[in-house]
Amino acid sequence: MADFTFPHDTRASHMHYVSTRGQAPQKRFTDILLGGLMEDGGLAMPAQYPAFSRADLDAMRGMDYRQLAFAVLSRFADDIPADDLKALIDRTYTPEVYCNTVSGSDARDITPLYTLEPGLHLLELSNGPTLAFKDMAMQLLGNLFEYALARSGDSLNIFGATSGDTGSSAEYAMRGKRGIRVFMLSPHGKMSRFQTAQMFSLQDPNIFNIAVRGVFDDCQDMVKAVSNDLEFKAKYRIGTVNSINWARVSAQVVYYFKGYFSATKSNDEQVSFTVPSGNFGNVCAGHIARMMGLPIRHLVVATNENDVLDEFFRSGVYRPRGTAETLHTTSPSMDISKASNFERFIYDLTGRDTAQVRAMWGEVDRGRPFDLSASPLFGRVASDYGFQSGSSNHAHRVSTMRLANERWGRAIDTHTADGLKVALERREADVPMIVLETALPAKFSETVVEALGREPVRPAGMENLESLPQRFEVMDADVVAMKAFIAANAG
Ligand SMILES: *Cc1c(COP(=O)(O)O)cnc(C)c1O
Repeated sequence: MADFTFPHDTRASHMHYVSTRGQAPQKRFTDILLGGLMEDGGLAMPAQYPAFSRADLDAMRGMDYRQLAFAVLSRFADDIPADDLKALIDRTYTPEVYCNTVSGSDARDITPLYTLEPGLHLLELSNGPTLAFKDMAMQLLGNLFEYALARSGDSLNIFGATSGDTGSSAEYAMRGKRGIRVFMLSPHGKMSRFQTAQMFSLQDPNIFNIAVRGVFDDCQDMVKAVSNDLEFKAKYRIGTVNSINWARVSAQVVYYFKGYFSATKSNDEQVSFTVPSGNFGNVCAGHIARMMGLPIRHLVVATNENDVLDEFFRSGVYRPRGTAETLHTTSPSMDISKASNFERFIYDLTGRDTAQVRAMWGEVDRGRPFDLSASPLFGRVASDYGFQSGSSNHAHRVSTMRLANERWGRAIDTHTADGLKVALERREADVPMIVLETALPAKFSETVVEALGREPVRPAGMENLESLPQRFEVMDADVVAMKAFIAANAG
């Protein structure tokens, strides 16, 4: 895909963002940095992908993580002065931030490649503060938000609901940041002790943990209710950090490049990636890396029992589930009813036909399926875009965790186990397979104990996490009381 520039149109040399639904004005990177959906309900996409030529890839091979991050992100965030962007990247991707390696890997690699056997690798994305891959993008987001707010003189109150990984990753990214406060709802007593302790032990005055007497859906309903009150939202400058945020997706593109260069010796080679998937944010970044010219053969989407994505890649039918249909599994961060970033891929698949995307998501937004099984587009999903898929379940997870331990002496977490299970089915003889490690086993110890009969190793300094003092509010699922709490504590 060419990166056209037209000499008579100076705007064409800048990166602009358009909506997947085609009815919102173009934006620049910093315009969409703090936002979620575009005005027409669609998702932001680059008007064209930057292209990396063979010569570019040759120049990038040998770069360290920070240099790669700048090479990639300067193409997407070209309205941030280069020196500023470089400083933000250098501050984010340090071995001090991504220090929690327990495998013996070198933290200076930021995302070390761990070789199980020749041609089969794990890309360690979970050595950040909360031991899940979401830290890779969220830590940058924290620094970008602080930078943008300082430039505009604004402040921001982040309001969200979490059942685990996203909320803690957001809190560790935003803690202590000037101009930012975080109000994070979680279902009281329903998260693991480790995840609860990780969040509630934060003592930073700009972090507010709210344990809601109810289930996760009650928390999410309250976020929706506050978001729908536009007057309140504007008055208290309420924002979110959900997985459709473009800056998060673009920051995730970087480690596909890093993984590719680590697993190969020349840019003539191809690799495949297997990605434990939920909201399709992680693997969407892989798709974007491939569109930019990275030699990726297959992108293998691995799901757990919540197999809405696997079903699409097998059958061409995308059937979002109701929340009541969503199963609670032992890889909980992949328990989704629909995949919020999937619209970005379908936009590309249709040749960026926004009328078609509007028609399809007109159905999806009403909870109805769409069916591409009879469309020539469906054949292109695999042939042109390289997608494959597979699914896993609790029994697979446990047996794959045992296999990794026995054959390679490597403990893995439940989400990574879903990925490895599918990767072993999809692996080809001559193409290196890289499985993305999306969390450390210490985060999901119950299933590790079930599989391996022992507690997983914790990173240094986290041994006594559960005994640290905790700071949180317990509240009812009451929107009026919630708004009053935010009003009293907003920045
Ligand atoms: C969020 C998460 C996933 C799913 O990633 P998506 O970008 O939503 O597809 C997988 N594994 C872990 C551990 C996660 O936290």
